[in-house]
Amino acid sequence: MKLPKRVTIVEVGPRDGFQNEKQFIPTDRKIEIINALGRTGLRVIQATSFVHPKAVPNLADAEEVMRRIDRAPGVLYTVLAPNAKGVQRAMAFQPAKINLMMSVSESHNRANGNRTIEESLRDFEALVPMILEAGVKPVGGMACTFGCPFEGRISIAQIMRVVDRYIAMGIKEAGLSDTIGSANPKLVYDVTSRMLDRYSQLQWHTHFHNTRDLALANILAAMQAGITEFDSSIGGLGGCPYAPNASGNISTEDLVNMMNEIEVETGIDLDALLAVSEMVKKVIPHPLNSAMSQAGKPWVLKEAPAEQQKIG
Ligand code: ZN
Repeated sequence: MKLPKRVTIVEVGPRDGFQNEKQFIPTDRKIEIINALGRTGLRVIQATSFVHPKAVPNLADAEEVMRRIDRAPGVLYTVLAPNAKGVQRAMAFQPAKINLMMSVSESHNRANGNRTIEESLRDFEALVPMILEAGVKPVGGMACTFGCPFEGRISIAQIMRVVDRYIAMGIKEAGLSDTIGSANPKLVYDVTSRMLDRYSQLQWHTHFHNTRDLALANILAAMQAGITEFDSSIGGLGGCPYAPNASGNISTEDLVNMMNEIEVETGIDLDALLAVSEMVKKVIPHPLNSAMSQAGKPWVLKEAPAEQQKIG
């Protein structure tokens, strides 16, 4: 099997996870969790999103979170911003990266951001020079790259149309997001291979929701194509706005476990991560979507029974 020696796992729980929780998570708890994540060996943590507080009430404390978290040495703290107002608010806190987010589906971009694709791109064209000037890395996010709730499958040409514009703006990092969890390993392999072939100058990452339990398979397919950076969320927090009862992102602890088992380095201490997922359990009023937090680590051997036991 063709595997990289090492991958980067980007923790997006404090953003994609917390934003989806109906009950407000106290700012102090968010900060404790982000600080604990910073001590697990994770190198990139998406700490919050600068969105309108009415649209995402749980992240209304984005400023306070960015002001009060301990920034661990060697860890990049990044944020998401979907528009000019968000970018302006984010810039005051000198995040390592600002993930600009738009959809490659025209109807989803309108529904989500009240913008046509062209309007979003023009907004970003005005913002990117300002971000670069401040020494912050802009990241070109693309929602719905593996399917849209209104348009179905999205063509490669449609994705490329956005990527070409991102490159022209001076963006060097881009992400393919499976917003509604409609990706499958074959589609992922095809799309990521095409992107890496045509845009090898970009640093790519993927963002898979585990809506239909295919996220780990999709990550493995993306890795086979050459992707080495993956988003995931502590405790599998998150959700899908178009499938209200569905699970969220792939959990970071499940992803790290898979990487450990297939001998791909992440630099992340799984025990430390599982301790953070226990912290998350205490602040979230529902069970986590994390196989590891239920089953624990493999290869913790048990004492063999002295006598034959009944099975069943
Ligand atoms: Zn997401």
